[in-house]
Amino acid sequence: MIEENVKRILGELPAGVELVAAAKTRTPEDILQAVEAGIKILGENYVQEAREAFELVGRKVKWHFIGHLQRNKVKKAIEIFDMIETLDSPELAAEIDKRCSQAGKIMPVLIEINSGREKQKFGVLPEDAEVLIKTVAEFKSIKIKGLMTMGPAFGNPEDARPYFIKTKKLFDKIKTLDFPGVEMKCLSMGMTNSYRVAIEEGANMVRIGTKIFGPRSYD
Ligand SMILES: *Cc1c(COP(=O)(O)O)cnc(C)c1O
Repeated sequence: MIEENVKRILGELPAGVELVAAAKTRTPEDILQAVEAGIKILGENYVQEAREAFELVGRKVKWHFIGHLQRNKVKKAIEIFDMIETLDSPELAAEIDKRCSQAGKIMPVLIEINSGREKQKFGVLPEDAEVLIKTVAEFKSIKIKGLMTMGPAFGNPEDARPYFIKTKKLFDKIKTLDFPGVEMKCLSMGMTNSYRVAIEEGANMVRIGTKIFGPRSYD
């Protein structure tokens, strides 16, 4: 199942679009199957789960953190992750910078945009992104590589389109501003039910869980 799913999705994605396998709640064995079928990037929401999968999979793939990162988990997170897709505050940036500097690492990050302006969601509001990016760009051990958004959850993927359009516009605008040290290269948006729409609107990184591994038990 997992193997066919991965191959089908990889075969379908246009050139230049990277697939992140969103692995939350999956067993290390299932995750390894996905990797053996061709997954190059694993997305994890929880540091502890990532550590367990990492024991089995190791550095055969890149590890992206896609959950909400608590400051007290940063030290452990930077041991595993190659990118943090969900940076959304100067306080979190300061902690990542401090820990990476101690470890002699540079951490690539995406700025998470709360494109749906949802109170209960993480991410920076679109109008606050520029100021956050300028602040984060000052940190020596962090490298900004682009933007990520979740957008509101909809049954109909068409309803997600306006939020992807909004995030792509912001991505293009920040690219034009050409801040020193800031690269607008990755635009991470789209999940199982919305990734096709996200790609149409400019995503070059999609995060897919259910369509690879099947339904999660708590869904
Ligand atoms: C779970 C998750 C996904 C994947 O969701 P699916 O609907 O299972 O594809 C993508 N991004 C983030 C941040 C997630 O937490």
